[in-house]
Amino acid sequence: MIDIQHLYKSFGKTSVLNDITTSVHKGDVVAVIGPSGSGKSTLLRCLNGLETITDGHVTVDGTELTEKTLSEIRKKSGMVFQHFHLFPHMSVLDNITFAPRHTLGKTKEEAENTAYELLHTVGLSEKADTFPNQLSGGQKQRVAIARALAMNPEIMLFDEPTSALDPEMVKEVLDVMKQLASTGMTMVVVTHEMGFAREVADRILFLDEGYVVEEATPSDFFQNPRTDRAKSFLEKVL
Ligand code: ADP
Ligand code: MG
Repeated sequence: MIDIQHLYKSFGKTSVLNDITTSVHKGDVVAVIGPSGSGKSTLLRCLNGLETITDGHVTVDGTELTEKTLSEIRKKSGMVFQHFHLFPHMSVLDNITFAPRHTLGKTKEEAENTAYELLHTVGLSEKADTFPNQLSGGQKQRVAIARALAMNPEIMLFDEPTSALDPEMVKEVLDVMKQLASTGMTMVVVTHEMGFAREVADRILFLDEGYVVEEATPSDFFQNPRTDRAKSFLEKVL
């Protein structure tokens, strides 16, 4: 579903991603972990064209990312951010139906039917007419997930979706993500939730200083990290 070949990304003279080669198969859940500043967000942003790539190739669902294919590639993935990025002046329902109506050309009725189904899936059926500022952080993030899913993406990209949440709200968001994983959605999840990575991910990518330092199954990575860098990272977070 995603193929990355020798991906490099620099900002000016600073190289942020170095020779990343990996792939994500359909239905896989890949957890991207690593210290702050290691390039995790930049990697995700390169996968949906939010960043231009400096060198290398990114192919999503058979289409190589180029200037020409940018809008096509963007439609293939939904992205969920740490800080939700909901439209504050729109109701929950309008947040979810806006892009399907205006970029997919769905009718109001079609878009709303889908939105109600998705709100049911994320456990927020009764919040359709609420505005974002009346929601808790966990509820906002579940709306953001529903909004991304409303575009019917092939892939879901999550950038630290629970990092801005109060501890008691982390679980409700992770539970929605787990449920999504169980439906066979292809997911790339940048996370500091090691329990989630261990339990839900098929594969761990451990980044440090823009390199993929380890790529392993969760059980190999957490039980037998091969590198000192991964060992010292795990000592700090576990
Ligand atoms: P992470 O998500 O792992 O914390 P990021 O991908 O956000 O790391 O950032 C990796 C490095 O790239 C950091 O050193 C950061 O300062 C730098 N960086 C990220 N975005 C930009 C940008 N738009 N311009 C310049 N440097 C950036
Ligand atoms: Mg980040």
